[in-house]
Amino acid sequence: MGLATPNQDPQQEIVDHYIQLKNALIMMVDDEPIMMELVQAFLESEGYSRFTTLEDSRKAIESLQDQRPDVLLLDLNMPHVDGFDILEAMRAQKQLKHIPVIVLTSANDPASKLKALELGATDFLAKPVDPSELALRLRNTLTVKAYQDQLAYYDSLTGLPNRKLFLDRLEWALNRLQRDGGALAVVDICLDRFKYVNQSLGIKGGDILLQKVSARMLEHVRQGDVISKVPIDDLWRSLSRLGGDEFSILLDDMSRSENAENVVARLKSAFDKPFNVDGQEVSISASMGISVYPDDGDDADVLLKNAGAASAFVKKQGGNGYQFFSDEVEARSKERMQLEADLRKAIGRSELEMYYQPKVNTKTEALTGVEALIRWNHPQRGIISPAEFIPLAEEIGFIHSLGDWVILTVCRQTKLWQDKGWNDFTVSLNVSPQQLLNGDIVSFVAGAIKNNQIPADRLVLELTESLAMDKGLDILDLLKRLRATGVGLSIDDFGTGYSNLGYLKQLPFDELKIDRSFLMNIPTDQDEVAIITAIVAMARSLGLKVVAEGVEELPQLECLRLFDVETIQGYYFSKPMPVPGFERYYLDLKA
Ligand code: C2E
Ligand code: CA
Ligand code: CA
Repeated sequence: MGLATPNQDPQQEIVDHYIQLKNALIMMVDDEPIMMELVQAFLESEGYSRFTTLEDSRKAIESLQDQRPDVLLLDLNMPHVDGFDILEAMRAQKQLKHIPVIVLTSANDPASKLKALELGATDFLAKPVDPSELALRLRNTLTVKAYQDQLAYYDSLTGLPNRKLFLDRLEWALNRLQRDGGALAVVDICLDRFKYVNQSLGIKGGDILLQKVSARMLEHVRQGDVISKVPIDDLWRSLSRLGGDEFSILLDDMSRSENAENVVARLKSAFDKPFNVDGQEVSISASMGISVYPDDGDDADVLLKNAGAASAFVKKQGGNGYQFFSDEVEARSKERMQLEADLRKAIGRSELEMYYQPKVNTKTEALTGVEALIRWNHPQRGIISPAEFIPLAEEIGFIHSLGDWVILTVCRQTKLWQDKGWNDFTVSLNVSPQQLLNGDIVSFVAGAIKNNQIPADRLVLELTESLAMDKGLDILDLLKRLRATGVGLSIDDFGTGYSNLGYLKQLPFDELKIDRSFLMNIPTDQDEVAIITAIVAMARSLGLKVVAEGVEELPQLECLRLFDVETIQGYYFSKPMPVPGFERYYLDLKA
């Protein structure tokens, strides 16, 4: 259909695209060529320009699959295969059943009209055709179709084609190539760290960013077309939003001067400049993966999956780049899938274990608490770090079961210590933001405390700063209810997110943990020293306890002591230990 001018809002453009009904592809099937010539001549005078006509009704289905018209004008009475047969065959095919059909019939009998309606005809027109009636019915039919397409096949946020339409086009292109030969490429485009950005901008801001990113990508692929003098056709139209922060583009003819790398380079340049979201400059990049037909797969699902594996590979390497699907990508992706499957079974197989790391008072060097840190004893791979599998668990939705397991295990352990009379230290555990978003964490925590009969104030939940900043969630209410169960609340990894201190002040936290990255080079690094003094002063004014995390050397400890940081946690005192190791450590302390 028609070309829109660049720099338009994509949503508007899609609408325009469909309002330009005159560019619709009109197919006619009639055994009398003269009828088709007359209708075409008339419609041309009305401004329509794209026609495809067919006399031999036996080829109708094949031709429909090939051309995919926007509307079909179908004669009912034809030799060999009549209009009813064609209607019936169309309704049985998912690719064809949505094409509207206007039936042309000289048969003035109600029974055949009824039959055609039952077979899914959209409208009727009596032969001989009255030109103005034809024009009206055609326009109505195309308008309805455009509207339905818009709802079913376009993403309402960005106006881009959705996953369904993308898959449909991909399948169509593959059918053609399987018959005629040739190659195509699927590019999977996944925004880097979108979840994180979304958390700090709030859901509304995240939506605006997605709209801006879509418009910018569209502009970049389209501009490239003009520059390279390739006839603008469907390349930019295939830019689709598959869901969330994932987009895709289809290069359905790799033989022309466009090659995948060229397109990917242009898409990449769309991210060079920051995006303006409500007056805020936001920088974001993308990981792109490319799969090619026929080398990397011959059906739509496999090609899409492989392009996704390639973009995941880029993301794992830090993002902001592209990668073709390859043996290495495949091996990694399989390994990851295996790890995913293993992780889901890890609880049942008792492969998860909590380690405990002491928190120590800087002045007295007494133990004040422990942080529970999870470990995965993988049967083949040995101990796997939570830094590797927690993000995986979050991604596959397993974090809820895992998180519940952590809460129960830590509460049970606390009870065992309580029973030995070891009640002079707190027990902290980490809670992932996602655990708060779904399910009822408040009653789960309260239940675990009650069932194990432990004092609620022995427990501290560590939440990351980015969560505290999520504007899309009534975090204040949730934290108040958590706090009401009696547990302590700690802000983890402080300093690494986008802090809004004004907001932070309202939240019922008890403790703040300074991220390890701010004390790696104290006391020599004056910038770090300045940051720590500022954080400590702020925490004091908010009445928060301060914990410094990741202390490895004595000079760091001495420096922190000087700044009145009361608690430290780090290898200097002890690494995280399994229960027996911690218990020996505790007994030694008390000896
Ligand atoms: P985190 O909550 O910031 O935990 C502190 C991390 O720093 C731990 O890594 C700890 O072993 C490490 N660490 C402590 N002292 C030192 C030090 O002196 N030097 C160095 N280099 N590192 C130190 P770990 O155990 O690998 O955990 C990594 C992250 O995984 C945690 O960061 C936390 O975000 C997450 N995590 C761990 N256990 C759980 C859990 O049970 N649930 C959830 N949701 N996340 C967890
Ligand atoms: Ca922590
Ligand atoms: Ca931390």
